[in-house]
Amino acid sequence: MNHYRLLINGKLTSTTDSFAVVNPASGEVFAQAPECSEQQLDQAVGSAQQAFPQWGQDHNKRKAALMDMANAIQQQSKKIAEVLTLEQGKPLKHATREVMASALQIQFAANTELPLEVLQDTDDGRIELHHKPYGVVAAITPWNFPVSIAMGKVATALIAGNTVVLKPSPYTPLSTLLVGEAIQSALPPGVLNIISGSDPLGACLTIHPLVRKIDFTGSVNTGKQVARAASDDLKRVTLELGGNDAAIVLEDVQPKEIANKLFWGAFTNSGQVCIAIKRAYVHESIYPQLVSELSLLAKKYPVGDGMNEQTALGPINNQAQFERVSSLVEDAKQHGAKIETGGAPTGQGFGYQSTIMTEVNDEMSIVCEEQFGPVLPILTYTDLDDAIARANHTHFGLGGSVWSPNLERASDVARRLQCGTAWVNQHLALSPVAPFGGSKWSGIGYINGRWGYEGATELQVVNIKR
Ligand code: NAD
Repeated sequence: MNHYRLLINGKLTSTTDSFAVVNPASGEVFAQAPECSEQQLDQAVGSAQQAFPQWGQDHNKRKAALMDMANAIQQQSKKIAEVLTLEQGKPLKHATREVMASALQIQFAANTELPLEVLQDTDDGRIELHHKPYGVVAAITPWNFPVSIAMGKVATALIAGNTVVLKPSPYTPLSTLLVGEAIQSALPPGVLNIISGSDPLGACLTIHPLVRKIDFTGSVNTGKQVARAASDDLKRVTLELGGNDAAIVLEDVQPKEIANKLFWGAFTNSGQVCIAIKRAYVHESIYPQLVSELSLLAKKYPVGDGMNEQTALGPINNQAQFERVSSLVEDAKQHGAKIETGGAPTGQGFGYQSTIMTEVNDEMSIVCEEQFGPVLPILTYTDLDDAIARANHTHFGLGGSVWSPNLERASDVARRLQCGTAWVNQHLALSPVAPFGGSKWSGIGYINGRWGYEGATELQVVNIKR
């Protein structure tokens, strides 16, 4: 059995206390993770602070180190992916894809640079604009894509010249700690520290006086706590929070043609994706056909243990989330919803059947809250303006999509959605060349490309008089 350790100041570090990590496919504890002490938290942040001045100096050295880091992750991808499946639940091929995608993200970030801009250059003087790193960045991550979300944050912060203390979710700490083992010698000591522990460790990290920026991904509620904690010290924040994405399906689609894409837009990672389709508004003329196509697909893909090759969809990640999804379904049923297919646990660990639900309304919790699980409520509409208004009537604003062969009309509708990313005839597609972030309660700030880099830096104007 692997002995998991923290990464502090370049050293793999054991702890006195530990906490249990559960395999969601069985509901059984399968490993212990190190619980970082307050003193170790202090050492981690202190070493990041110490490493910062040197690390911030040479962009080319940082780029080379990030490339080494990506290689190290690729080399250990099999081991990391297996542990990711065991602790998160997703099928092994998806876990492998996540780990490999993380290495690509790091390579992409390594090639991002915002060079000095000269704003004015005259006989009188010169005005330069520099992008300066903050210092120590606290990166805090959720349990749905533990490796890729962490590596996206870390790579962006590091290439911009910051140093990082990374804290994964207590439900999925092990794959991140294995990344720490893999990249230990790729980076100078202290540049990236990885600490694991329960939620209060995250809270302690957000109020640490040496942390200058918090890059957080998680739920809206925790995001608000992070923002409050940051405000006392005016730490900068990037918040990537929850969503309740609507898909609006126009009357001119062929239900059979779009059903598979819609299905995976909702059920990828068993619905545990911030930008999954979490409610669908379908024109009444095609509603019965689309419901029946989606129900067929929900029955077709096996839900089970991610280690089993036949499994297409893993379990819900943890007991609390399993109970939340179960209770949202029960609540909807009590309020008159109809279960077209699914609607119950699989009986194995935290497995839950892929569920298609109809006869729902906008007031039901399953529709107006983020279910974050394998359940898709399908609503009908007759008037498109009404559907758009209903889709926008929420505090969430992460993503949304419009489905129609008429691209011009669909794009017009997409632009009316109040969200950070609006797709046409697809959902979930993220590109490293486009910014990603939420509007309203779904977040503050952006990740990816130059927008991510800008978020990891602050501006400095150097104004020279000749
Ligand atoms: P969560 O908010 O419960 O936890 C996220 C992280 O915050 C964990 O590491 C946790 O230990 C830590 N934490 C808990 N309390 C804290 C506190 N007071 N201060 C600092 N850190 C604290 O979220 P979760 O259940 O792990 O993840 C699911 C949520 O994440 C969903 O709402 C989902 O939509 C969202 N999410 C958003 C994005 C995005 O990019 N917008 C991506 C993935 C997930």
